[in-house]
Amino acid sequence: MRPYLVAGNWKMNTDGKSGVSLATALVAGWGGGRPGVEMAVCPPFPYLTAISQAVKGSAITVGAQNCWHEAPGAFTGEIATEMLADLGCKYVILGHSERRHILGETDELISKKVKKGLASGLKVILCVGELLAEREANQTEAVLDQQMSGSLAGIASDAYANIVIAYEPVWAIGTGKTASPAQAEAAHQYLRDWVAKRCNSQIAEKLQILYGGSVKPDNAAELLGQANVDGALVGGASLKGDQFLPIALAAANCYQG
Ligand code: PEP
Repeated sequence: MRPYLVAGNWKMNTDGKSGVSLATALVAGWGGGRPGVEMAVCPPFPYLTAISQAVKGSAITVGAQNCWHEAPGAFTGEIATEMLADLGCKYVILGHSERRHILGETDELISKKVKKGLASGLKVILCVGELLAEREANQTEAVLDQQMSGSLAGIASDAYANIVIAYEPVWAIGTGKTASPAQAEAAHQYLRDWVAKRCNSQIAEKLQILYGGSVKPDNAAELLGQANVDGALVGGASLKGDQFLPIALAAANCYQG
């Protein structure tokens, strides 16, 4: 069975004090972790150092929410992947729908970031997902195909071991609307088949595909129980220890069951 990854995307939330107290609560609740489940937190850039310190020695890993695709140098305001690796980040989230739709990131730019993150030894959590209008027009698979092809252009098969895909239907992010377990499973199966065709079935079988979009303690078990759902990328509910921990525990129950 593939291990689960439950990653919290804190987005542009918390401050120094509340971020550390959230991380400390997670360490208290998760401690040495549970078999088959990795918990990760992705705080805003300014708090990466403090949060890395707060989770040090626990089973919780740390990721960043974005990066730039050039080597350190004259890119005012940007963050290099070398810096993220230096801070102890294991993951970098790329292609999040908020960056695609609010900040105008294209698949071409995302693919450069994916390559650069991998080259710095980071694992990439690549987000893909359709808008509501695209789902209603039966374009979900076409959109996923386009985003996967564009964002993973030029990525060699052996690099997929360091890539996690997060299927995040845009209409379910921060809206309280969740894809049904069947909708999530169908999209995840499509993505796994996509990787099998692009690479091979062994690589596809090992690939972790997370679901993201209003995951909460009360819907986590059913979503995580789907055969091709290997974890969750959690936004809102990752900001409260008493919501994020039960989601990770639901993954632990699915792993054992
Ligand atoms: C996200 O932004 O990655 C996300 C899934 O957010 P939420 O859980 O709040 O829908």
